[in-house]
Order: sequence, then structure tokens, then C-alpha cells
Amino acid sequence: MSNALTVAAKGKLAMDKWVVRSSIFLLFIAMSLAFRFSLNPNGKHFDSLLTCQNNNNNNISSSSYLKERIVDLANDPHTVDWMKKIRRQIHENPELAFEEFETSKLIRQQLDQMGIAYRWPVARTGVVATLGSGSSPFVALRADMDALPIQEMVEWEHKSKVDGKMHACGHDAHAAMLLGAARILKQLQDTLQGTVVLIFQPAEEQGQGGKDMIAEGVLDNVDAIFGLHTVHRYPTGVVASRPGEFLAGCGSFKAKIIGKGGHAAIPQDSIDPILAASTAVISLQNIVSREIDPLDSQVVSVAMIHGGTAFNVIPESATIEGTFRAFSKKSFNALRERIKEVIEGQAAVHRCTCEVNFTGTEHPIIPPTVNDARIYEHVRRVSIDIVGEGNVELAPIFMGSEDFAFYLDKVPGSFLFLGMRNEKIGSIYLPHSPYYTIDEDVFPIGASIYAVFAHSYLSNSTRNLNSYD
Ligand SMILES: [Zn+2]
Ligand SMILES: [Zn+2]
Repeated sequence: MSNALTVAAKGKLAMDKWVVRSSIFLLFIAMSLAFRFSLNPNGKHFDSLLTCQNNNNNNISSSSYLKERIVDLANDPHTVDWMKKIRRQIHENPELAFEEFETSKLIRQQLDQMGIAYRWPVARTGVVATLGSGSSPFVALRADMDALPIQEMVEWEHKSKVDGKMHACGHDAHAAMLLGAARILKQLQDTLQGTVVLIFQPAEEQGQGGKDMIAEGVLDNVDAIFGLHTVHRYPTGVVASRPGEFLAGCGSFKAKIIGKGGHAAIPQDSIDPILAASTAVISLQNIVSREIDPLDSQVVSVAMIHGGTAFNVIPESATIEGTFRAFSKKSFNALRERIKEVIEGQAAVHRCTCEVNFTGTEHPIIPPTVNDARIYEHVRRVSIDIVGEGNVELAPIFMGSEDFAFYLDKVPGSFLFLGMRNEKIGSIYLPHSPYYTIDEDVFPIGASIYAVFAHSYLSNSTRNLNSYD
């Protein structure tokens, strides 16, 4: 009797447990679907939904559970509000390249509050935080912190409080999203199978910050790196990138052509640097039009020419300055060589000497941004998980440049455009516009991509990344 009762009781208990487990499972599925739909409100992501539906309670892998968890954490209203608050604080107090002292302090305060260790100062104002096991593999996430010398024209509650300075390139948003990723990854610290390096760099706009951070060892032991930039060319919820050559390399040159000054009415006693500079400008235009494959986009522009002080005096020297762009390292380096040869050649034809300089401190050379095909593919798969396959685009090559290229020169990595165009709130302006506006709704997406990329890279780095699931 007692045995029979025990068996019946056990049976009921087992049934109750089954009902509870089934309910939890159904609730989990319902929440996952609801979340994915809320993140992707335009409903283009049925592939992701199907992936979710095809899992059952027993075979939802730990990695897919963690991805769901990361996205949930990124969308937690407290985290979203916190990211917005940080971004608005940074926006109100913009600081130019290598002057990001208050921005850096705010970032360090947040890291302190989260109990995340960091190194500071790196490259004057930079901060490098680490999370995880402290041992290899190491994966790096990068954000920039500097503002621009632009007067903000957007009238809103958190407008720049500093005349003539503005976050008009979204670096305030990048820093806030990377802090968001830090907060998420901190909560999952025990599951990290390696170390995440969080790079908050100064002076991206100067093209110098990344270079200086690398010189101070931020990439030591790093196996892969990921960075992103908010862009208005894609709507909020859409991301884009491409394998291989992505953004142009950007260089500048300054050439001083030296002749012999004299009276303009007696040219035979002078050596005319104005004529030499003029033919150099024309010959420089022939490089791209006559020597370069038209399918290999390149630019040479002379944007400044200075020489002379009076209408009847042949000056001692004339100076020309300009910029050049190309997408592959090979083309970029070849273009640089030809610019030098052409200016020197034209100076020689006209009996002048010249000094050609490519290393101006104001405009350092930035190499082309070239995504590693393997890491690009990893980012693409992560992006599909976050925004759905229909919202992950193959970006065309883009003539702008980024100092993230310096990191990609050293370690494999990938750079991503994070769409944030939203006509309703006016986030439709080009970077560096005084009307530049951020759609803060991208914050959970950006923070999720940062965090899932790092987490899944560490989980997969000892295996083939193609096994990413
Ligand atoms: Zn910029
Ligand atoms: Zn920028």
C-alpha cells in the first residue's frame, strides 16, 4: 500500500515536473520569438526565426543559448538607458584628438563600477580593459573617443556644450556601445574561453590614435580584432561589410619645388619653380587617367598651390599639396611612388630641385582597410544572428578611410558599417556634418554584435571558425 502510494506520488511528481519543464520551454521559445521580432520590427528575419524554431529543448546548444542571452542583456531597458546616458554625457562634452581626458575618465569610472580591470593611460588618453580568463586566445574590440572641430547645429537637449566642438562622427555612440558590450560580457565572464580586450582609442580623426595604441602594445597576443562605425547610408537594423579591400588608404603629400628667383622680365637669369609646379600638377593627373586600371579606383588630387609674392618676381620656390587614395596596399604604395617620381621628374625637366614629403604630422598616411576573409565571415554570421540574413548587406568599396586599418595591418580582423538612418528622427546626415544625428536605437544591436563576436570567437578559436554555430 505504502509502496503503491509512493509510486503514484512519484508519477504525479514526474508529470508535474514535465508540465513545468514544458511550460518553461514554451515560455522560452515565446520570449525568443518575441525578442527577435522586437529587434527586427520590419519582419525580414524569418531565417533566424526558423533557426530558433528548429531547436528543441534538448538540442539548443550552449552557444546559441549564450547568443540569445547576450541579445537579451543588450536589450535590457536598464542597459539601453545606461548606454544612452553615457553617450549623451560624452556628446555634451566633446573633446578633440588626444584631449579626451574627461571622456576617458567617464569610461574608466564605468569600468571601475563594473569591476573591470584596465590599463591607462595608453597613447595619452586611451583605455584598454580586459575581461575573461587572462590567457589566450585574445580577441579585441575597438571603439574611438574623439570629437571634431565643428559647431553643432542640431538643437536638442544634449547638444554640445563646447562651442566649435562636436561629436559629428558617432564616436560617442561607439564608446557607449563598447561599454554596453563590456557590461554584457562581464555578466557572462565565467563562460569566456579566453580574454576580451576592450580598446577605447583617442584621435581616430587624426589618423594617429590607432597607430599610437599599437605602439604601446595593445595588440600584443591579440589573435583577432573587430570594429564598427555608425553610418547613415543603411537604415537602422541593417549592417554591411565586405571581405578584403573595404575602405581606401589615404595619404597626403607636400612638395617644395625649388628654383632660382629673379626679375620676371629677365626669365633667362632665373629658374622658374611656378612653371615646374604647374606641369607637375598636370602630370600628376595623368597617373590615374593613363597608367591605372580604370577598374582599380584611385584618386590623386592637388588641393593647394602656393608660390610667389609679386606679379613681376619669379619666386625661389613653389609648394604643392594634395591627397591620394587607393584600395589595395599594392596600388596605394605604387601610387605613392609614382607621385614622387612625377614631381621629381617635372622639377628636373625645368631645372629645379624638389623635396617630396609624405609624412605630414597633421595628415598621417592611413593604409587601406582590408578585412580578413575568415574574420569577415565570422562577423557576417554573428550579424545574421543579431539582425537577420535579410539585413546583412555586402558593402561596396568606400573611398573614405579609417585608422582601424592600422590594427588590420597587424592582426586579422574585420570592420563593419552599422546602419542608423532613420528619417523620423533625422539621422540622415553625412559624418562630419554639423547636423549629424545618431539613432540611439542601434545601441543594443551594436553592443550585441560586439559581444557575440568576442564571445563566439573565443569559443570557436580553437576550432575552425567555419564551425561557428
Ligand atoms: Zn570622422
Ligand atoms: Zn568616425
